[in-house]
Amino acid sequence: MDKPLEGVKCIVSSCVYNMDGNKCTAKSILVEPKHAHTSDDTDCSTFKPK
Ligand code: SF4
Repeated sequence: MDKPLEGVKCIVSSCVYNMDGNKCTAKSILVEPKHAHTSDDTDCSTFKPK
């Protein structure tokens, strides 16, 4: 596992990259979709279930 991404707070504890409740240890993340209209439209595509 890499060290947590600076500035990314994520509470998706069911993701394999999630650490200590709100840190992301992925190398980088991809957030989609391209033409979202609200924050609710967006998702982290890097999510991987535990
Ligand atoms: S990969 Fe995405 S969903 Fe998983 S911990 Fe990082 S930001 Fe959260």
